[in-house]
Amino acid sequence: MDMMRGVIDPELGSNLVELGMARGAEVSDEGEIRIKIALTTSGCPLRAQIQRDVKARLESLPGVTKVRILWGELTAEEKAAAMAKARFNVAQQAPDTAIPPTTKVLMVASGKGGVGKSTVTTNLAAALAALSFKVGVMDADIWGYSVPRMLGVGGDLRSLEGRIVPITRSIGDGRLDVVSMGFLVDREDSALMWRGLMLNRAVQHFCEDVAWSDDLDYLLIDMPPGTGDVQMGLAKMLPRAEMIVVTTPAVAAQKVAARVVDMGRKNYLRIVGVIENMSALVTATGEQHAVFGSGGGDTLAAEVGAPLLGRIPLEAAVADGSDRGEPAVLGEGAAAAAFKAVAEALSSEHVPPVEMAGCSARMLDAAAAALDALDNAES
Ligand code: ADP
Repeated sequence: MDMMRGVIDPELGSNLVELGMARGAEVSDEGEIRIKIALTTSGCPLRAQIQRDVKARLESLPGVTKVRILWGELTAEEKAAAMAKARFNVAQQAPDTAIPPTTKVLMVASGKGGVGKSTVTTNLAAALAALSFKVGVMDADIWGYSVPRMLGVGGDLRSLEGRIVPITRSIGDGRLDVVSMGFLVDREDSALMWRGLMLNRAVQHFCEDVAWSDDLDYLLIDMPPGTGDVQMGLAKMLPRAEMIVVTTPAVAAQKVAARVVDMGRKNYLRIVGVIENMSALVTATGEQHAVFGSGGGDTLAAEVGAPLLGRIPLEAAVADGSDRGEPAVLGEGAAAAAFKAVAEALSSEHVPPVEMAGCSARMLDAAAAALDALDNAES
């Protein structure tokens, strides 16, 4: 049931527990989960979306062999209560955060620094934008922020009606909306002077006080390395987030990476998969050089029971692209192809965007009718 706090009804903007839609679960000795989910209307096209989210969350739990959803429908009264909750959230402006309920949130995490977490975040963000998605990038790696430089965006964050406005860059038909401490402190090394408490608050501001656009398909969060306070705070603030873990091919690095997965699981996040970065360098003649060893990605994926999403080779073009603010994925080469393949698999299979599929009008009508009914009943 706690996992269901991470599943958002995209239309009502709250999680299934808060809305009273998750009605209890049973787990058999064989690891089969039967969970009751009640919808506002049984014919809602968002059912497929909710089904995918519920299954993905529960199936990512260790020991779960099968997930069966027993569908039901909210009674008129329950529906009115759910609508009232949704309306309250709208009135409060922010459900729990300012991140739209229809945005898929992906945390990119790693056990330690220097494994290429920011490189992976920025290249995946650029690749998703190149696929025409609207992609937010939150640079939560407050101590070692490098996202602005890697994405070639800069300037000062503006505020509009008390909200921080992200800095935008268009890529093809897609768009990147970026927030980073890098836009707030003027020198890259002065972030080190900020104290832990303030840093925690900074990340909270990025969740609550940013004017994230309503049309964002994805929000990628570049997490600080490891499992400190900032990471814990973010995981608690965003139980709906899904986690991608970046690791290197060195098998010895897996213990620290596994700790991050542990932290995610304890906060009910879904682990989408593992990306192995700095995999074997491939020369022009096709020779492979496993500079940082091999097998780390597979080992970690097997250990945490999540798929290996891809292997990104060590390639000068990757470091060079990050230094120039032009992510390597926007060019050619083996690493670019590997990043593109991961972005395609994420958007088509592992974390597809929310399709609102014409449900809105009907739901809003239903909401209005339910509220009228409630008002009538009260009067
Ligand atoms: P992290 O965010 O984990 O601290 P970075 O993304 O900053 O790591 O990467 C560390 C360094 O390694 C950077 O200089 C980056 O350009 C380089 N790098 C990362 N991935 C690759 C790769 N696949 N090939 C070559 N250089 C890479």
